[in-house]
Amino acid sequence: MAANYRLAQRHGESRSVVRIGAVTFGDGRFTLVGGPCSIESAEQIGRAAQGVRAAGGAMLRGGAYKPRTSPYDFQGLGDEGLPLIAEAGARAGLPVVVEALAVTQVPLVARFADMIQIGARNMQNVPLLRAAALTGRPILLKRGPSATLDELLLAAEYVLLEGNERVVLCERGIRGFDPETRNVCDLAGALRLRELTHLPVILDPSHASGRRSLIEPLTLAAAAAGLDGAIVEVHPNPREARCDAQQAIDLTEFERLAARVRAVRAVLEEVLEPAVSA
Ligand code: PEP
Ligand code: MN
Repeated sequence: MAANYRLAQRHGESRSVVRIGAVTFGDGRFTLVGGPCSIESAEQIGRAAQGVRAAGGAMLRGGAYKPRTSPYDFQGLGDEGLPLIAEAGARAGLPVVVEALAVTQVPLVARFADMIQIGARNMQNVPLLRAAALTGRPILLKRGPSATLDELLLAAEYVLLEGNERVVLCERGIRGFDPETRNVCDLAGALRLRELTHLPVILDPSHASGRRSLIEPLTLAAAAAGLDGAIVEVHPNPREARCDAQQAIDLTEFERLAARVRAVRAVLEEVLEPAVSA
């Protein structure tokens, strides 16, 4: 049976490369995005940006509007966070990705961010997908915690149908039954996605596991398996993070992670055939 999605469907061996300035997703490299769950202050996001840059990260992440499970938890700085991350990214020479939670936030996010994230909770929010797509900004589309790969690809199809071809898909863990890990990291699903679509696929090991100790090994697994990159929660002082503190690594840990990713990719390129062809 032919796939329901058409524009996202993979034909033959050719893969899409998504470009954001000098940053690329899908060209055979493993693109590392790092930054805090939420933007907290100019100092915090500035230090994160410098650390991500120094480690060799390609892009800065940070949320201004946080989709928290509890309404009593920190909801993010809102509009005020956007200029802070834009400036931190510009100083570090890193493009930035920020989530838009609602259609009304899209114009401002598009003004300050180089890429718009559509979060897991909003994967099937069709008006939001369309509004984000129409800005022309590249879209980071996260898989919903209970979404099938088919549903994720159909969500991507909404963006592609608006004429916006710059879509990066992100596996961030799906709902399981065991609270030992926050979610179930569906690495097999992410690899299967790369068979189904030409779009780049990256992993978010922070939300997938909910545990800082698992971020490095999961990222290395993704790099070894041939995914196109990872988006990692990095905070200058993780234990004081106002959001997702337990799943953020510090700048030194991010530097080690980036070095190990490079080592894994070098082995793949020089010694072994890549597990998944670029
Ligand atoms: C995030 O990236 O901080 C986030 C809230 O992610 P997700 O939508 O995957 O839960
Ligand atoms: Mn988070």
